[in-house]
Amino acid sequence: MLAAAELTKSFGGFQALAGCSLEIAPQTITGIIGPNGAGKSTLFNVLGGLLAPESGDVLFEGRSILGLRADERARIGLVRTFQISRELGELTVLENMLLASRQQDGEAVWRTFFTPAHVRAQERAAIAKARALLEQVALWSHANEPAKNLSGGQKKLLEISRALMLEPKIILLDEPTSGVSPAMTEALGKAILQLRDRGVTFAIIEHDMDVIARLCAPIYVLAGGRTLIRGSFREVASNEEVMKAYLGKAA
Ligand code: ADP
Ligand code: MG
Repeated sequence: MLAAAELTKSFGGFQALAGCSLEIAPQTITGIIGPNGAGKSTLFNVLGGLLAPESGDVLFEGRSILGLRADERARIGLVRTFQISRELGELTVLENMLLASRQQDGEAVWRTFFTPAHVRAQERAAIAKARALLEQVALWSHANEPAKNLSGGQKKLLEISRALMLEPKIILLDEPTSGVSPAMTEALGKAILQLRDRGVTFAIIEHDMDVIARLCAPIYVLAGGRTLIRGSFREVASNEEVMKAYLGKAA
């Protein structure tokens, strides 16, 4: 579904991606792990269209999408989630959802102030869609509260729900469980597995090895801006090079 081919990206003199390649098969929850600074978030930024690589390619369903902006990639089904920023935190949970779909439609926010009937109908459809998604993750009862009032875990569920407004084929999640309580981590894991079973593909950067073990197959280990190995959790966890990559960073 999605492939990185020999991607390179430098910041100043530092090579964050050094020929990084990986492949994400449809309907998998592919895990991406690696020490701090391995290039994981940079990889997602390049895959999502927020950063241009210096060389290499990004393929979506077999076609290069390097020429597409982030919003254009979202429109064809590739979505990277973002933390609920301070500005978005002031908006209600429902407004966050509606904003996600409106941006998707390429519609300026001001247009809703001059609503012709068809825009209102679109809006009603978007609200119905938002409600269905929020009910699935027990957030509908919070629909009219500012997003900033949600717990860390609820915010992550909202981030994923926002992405789902765009009906993506694949969602890229960067450390979805960071700052999330154990109970909400459990709920988040269940939501991701259910979505996968309904056909959504995931790539997840995660440092919580329990989450990785429970959700992800296969797993890629990144180190020094490239893929070290790909394998099952068991294969990755017992690999000596992987141990070295982590210990090398910790030392
Ligand atoms: P990871 O997510 O695996 O921890 P990152 O992809 O965030 O790693 O970062 C890889 C390296 O690139 C780090 O050394 C980081 O400091 C550097 N880096 C990432 N983004 C930028 C940027 N926008 N400007 C300068 N350096 C960056
Ligand atoms: Mg990161």
